Amino acid sequence: MSRDITLYSRGEIVAAQLIDGKALAQQVRERLAVESAAVAAKTGVKPGLATILVGDDPASHIYVKNKQKACELAGIYVDDHKLPASTTQAELLALIEKKNADPKVHGILVQLPLPKHIDSRIILEAVSPHKDADGFHPYNFGRLVEGNPVFEACTPKGVIKMIESTGVTIEGKRAVVVGRSNIVGKPLALMLLHRNATVTICHSKTKDLPAVCREADLLLVAIGKAKFVTADMVKEGAVVIDVGTNKLPDGKLCGDVDFEPVRERASWISPVPGGVGPMTIAMLLANTVESAKRGAGLL
Ligand code: NDP
Repeated sequence: MSRDITLYSRGEIVAAQLIDGKALAQQVRERLAVESAAVAAKTGVKPGLATILVGDDPASHIYVKNKQKACELAGIYVDDHKLPASTTQAELLALIEKKNADPKVHGILVQLPLPKHIDSRIILEAVSPHKDADGFHPYNFGRLVEGNPVFEACTPKGVIKMIESTGVTIEGKRAVVVGRSNIVGKPLALMLLHRNATVTICHSKTKDLPAVCREADLLLVAIGKAKFVTADMVKEGAVVIDVGTNKLPDGKLCGDVDFEPVRERASWISPVPGGVGPMTIAMLLANTVESAKRGAGLL
């Protein structure tokens, strides 16, 4: 963990230390660059990620560009595919089939959302489970349920690394995950369970959510509602990880947690931006390099 984390006191109140996702992600990329070079030295082929983007959504173009830039920093080859919005489902399936068989590609990223005429579920299931760098394939989700994961979904995997970076042990802790999506909340709850936390999953129908949150030693929030978690919902000394990414009317990004007041109660807290976002990208790279290492017999 970078030492530029700030721990400061105001009278009796000690504010939480920051979990610096940007600095952690950089450390991950540096490690991956070394591992990528080792794979290339052994096999003559760098780890490779195919990125597939359909349509003109400006935000998706920025996300893919950021992922590609991070790949380059980690010594990962990028196989870039930008397709027009008019691409048919059959055409996209044909490309995925080709990438499944391409020996230069160890991970396949299909950027979501896809245009409405394409069924995302069919597309994500067409990606080979052995190249599923996003960890969204039902096979990999099932392996996670069993406690024997291969590819783990990037955002929850990044959250676990962020908790681990604090030195706070997960085992035996009360963990509360707010949000139950298939890409964040559910896999995160399973990862915490497999690390022997006692886990509660909350959602929009949970009764007295503040009381449940107040029981959490580890409070993980992924709902998509700006500043929803207020200081009165947080136990003193809790570790708080904010997955939410929300745009305020002034265009600034903010998380699901009301950062400043919650920072006064928590022991560790992740900011938005600069928290989970960079770690999600770093875990996509990590999954790609792991896949290449597996193929090269280096794992
Ligand atoms: P979804 O919309 O798929 O799921 C949201 C979840 O939050 C649902 O389970 C929903 O409950 C629950 N929820 C909504 N409102 C409440 C409420 N008032 N009280 C309790 N639970 C509530 O979102 P995602 O999981 O895809 O994303 C969540 C947030 O994380 C978003 O802001 C997204 O942008 C961000 N995100 C950030 C990533 C990153 O890399 N930084 C990656 C992925 C997501 P119910 O099931 O009952 O509807």
